[in-house]
Amino acid sequence: MGYKSPVDGNKAQTKRKSGFKSRILNLPNPILLQTDRVVNGGRKMSEVNCARCGRKLRNPHSIARSLGPVCYAKSGGGVFDRDLNADEKEWARREQLLKAGGEIDLGVNWDYPDPGNLIRRYTMRVSVRYKDGAFEAYGRIFAPDEKPKEIIFARSIDLKTVYREAVAAGPTYSAIAHRARQEAGKRAKMEWRKNQRRLMVV
Ligand SMILES: [Zn+2]
Repeated sequence: MGYKSPVDGNKAQTKRKSGFKSRILNLPNPILLQTDRVVNGGRKMSEVNCARCGRKLRNPHSIARSLGPVCYAKSGGGVFDRDLNADEKEWARREQLLKAGGEIDLGVNWDYPDPGNLIRRYTMRVSVRYKDGAFEAYGRIFAPDEKPKEIIFARSIDLKTVYREAVAAGPTYSAIAHRARQEAGKRAKMEWRKNQRRLMVV
């Protein structure tokens, strides 16, 4: 996967944000994207860092979602976790609903990364739908002055797999967005200091 997240503290940060955005939004379509692979750019599980604070993760549960327990909660995680423990009757009901053209929303006000920007501009609605013969976890991304965009997190004939990715997507992207804003803040501060020094020299 070509996409690298700002979480890794890599080159993506210094690139112009338009390039970054198009890379996120043009993820290849009908494949299953594990959220942790999105966050960590395909690195080995043993090297996974928290998407929000950047600390190295050791707990397998945390590694699976790329977030430590505290940062998971801070990123809005936990709200939809119980949905995953539904009984088979409920799963069958969901399948039926989705195949009939319905959608299931898993949060409508998630954060979405906008690297280089200090102000929150994007909101994301995460939903599950049935499209072209498979279940899909996808996000619809809104900004005041832009047409909504779609991002596919997972696509599979197994609803449980897709649902799990949908539950993970909101907190994960909110965490990445938080970190991107923090990085932007740090850079702005550094720029400001540099300018102050220049003014003093002149
Ligand atoms: Zn963390």
